[in-house]
Amino acid sequence: MSATPESYDVIIAGAGPGGGTAAYFLSQAGLDVLVLEKETFPRYKTCGGGVSPAFLAQVFPFSFEPVLCSHVRTASYELGGQRVSMPLPPGKIGMVMRADFDAHILAHARADVRFGAAVKEVSELTDRVTVTTRDGRRYQACYLIGSDGASSIVARSLGLQRRHKMMAAIEIEAPASEAVRAAFQDHALFIFGEIKNGYLWIFPKGDHLSVGIGALGPRPGELQARLRQVMQRFSITLDGLTFHGHPIPLYSLRRQARAPITTRRCLLVGDAAGLVDPLTGEGIRMAIKSGRLAAQALLAGRPERYPQLVERAIRRSHNFGAVLARVFYRFPKACFYLGVRNPAASHAFIDLLSDRTSYPQVIARLFGSMPFFLARQTLQALVPQRSSH
Ligand SMILES: Cc1cc2nc3c(=O)[nH]c(=O)nc-3n(C[C@H](O)[C@H](O)[C@H](O)COP(=O)(O)OP(=O)(O)OC[C@H]3O[C@@H](n4cnc5c(N)ncnc54)[C@H](O)[C@@H]3O)c2cc1C
Repeated sequence: MSATPESYDVIIAGAGPGGGTAAYFLSQAGLDVLVLEKETFPRYKTCGGGVSPAFLAQVFPFSFEPVLCSHVRTASYELGGQRVSMPLPPGKIGMVMRADFDAHILAHARADVRFGAAVKEVSELTDRVTVTTRDGRRYQACYLIGSDGASSIVARSLGLQRRHKMMAAIEIEAPASEAVRAAFQDHALFIFGEIKNGYLWIFPKGDHLSVGIGALGPRPGELQARLRQVMQRFSITLDGLTFHGHPIPLYSLRRQARAPITTRRCLLVGDAAGLVDPLTGEGIRMAIKSGRLAAQALLAGRPERYPQLVERAIRRSHNFGAVLARVFYRFPKACFYLGVRNPAASHAFIDLLSDRTSYPQVIARLFGSMPFFLARQTLQALVPQRSSH
């Protein structure tokens, strides 16, 4: 007969930002929390590592300064050789290495953490949840939070698995020459128009750069080839470096808008719940937001309210973001000209990344500023013509 499983109030499967955040808020409130994490921290996680320090400061009472490897002061966007740059106020965008960032959140949680503990199976009973790990150990709790990422075993075990709209992505930590690093010291660059339904990025990471590419439905080998080719233009050679690939489960109107993210005793958060921004592939913020909402719902003794909280805080905005994504990737040039180059729209977008606004407001600010933007563009086009006569 097997021994009685260890018992907890809440078990959290996966210690990324979603799981770490839930562990932090639940354990701070005095609950007995167990975190089961497949890897041993600190571990490498494929990610651009772009986060908003302003957002983090809204959520957590502790500083992230020790794990921020750079602060972004300028964001630039390129399409077809045209570049638009925008100065950013301090604290809007920062860069982290996920190994340090995820460990930092977890270190602030007062949870029992088991590394090398991959969840294999979950069973939900009327009064509890039992979890079996790959090494055959069993644990039980009143509730389970599934924060085990894009290929969530928890979601699959509970029949909550759905086919995500997966963006394929590759990321490389590139040393780069001193001159190139200096050019990108506090500068993040997004490059559009080089791959269908996707983009490339160059992010500063202190002593190196994070470069990457993500797209929906690329041809085999296309991501690697495009990334190499475009990075050569910036004198960034990728020879001999490790290419890290990982899927990004983008929020999709058709697949996620009404998809269940809970059972009676289990709540999915972050990538496991398919909450990644449908336009940008940004997912750290949504993992943190949903991790906190899951904790709040459990602490209030109302886990059934979690889907409603996620609907209000994330999905409602994402529904508009998904429409914007469709328009953006279908008409990239028009969107670049009217949206990305429009400072009011770009500022609205940066506010979105710091969680100060939502997609409906971004769209409202885009259309509200359009007449003024177009008038200014027309004037700028006319003035040099007049002076040349
Ligand atoms: C190339 C790339 C670049 C990206 N760039 C950015 C960016 O710049 N900014 C941004 O906001 N987002 C970015 N994202 C998205 C972001 O990485 C994710 O949305 C985010 O990590 C989701 O957090 P999470 O906690 O839900 O899951 P994850 O961070 O994936 O964490 C899941 C954790 O669960 C563990 N786990 C998995 N299976 C099991 C199991 N069976 N049992 C126990 N533990 C398990 C994993 O080891 C992991 O630690 C990027 C993604 C990719 C692929």
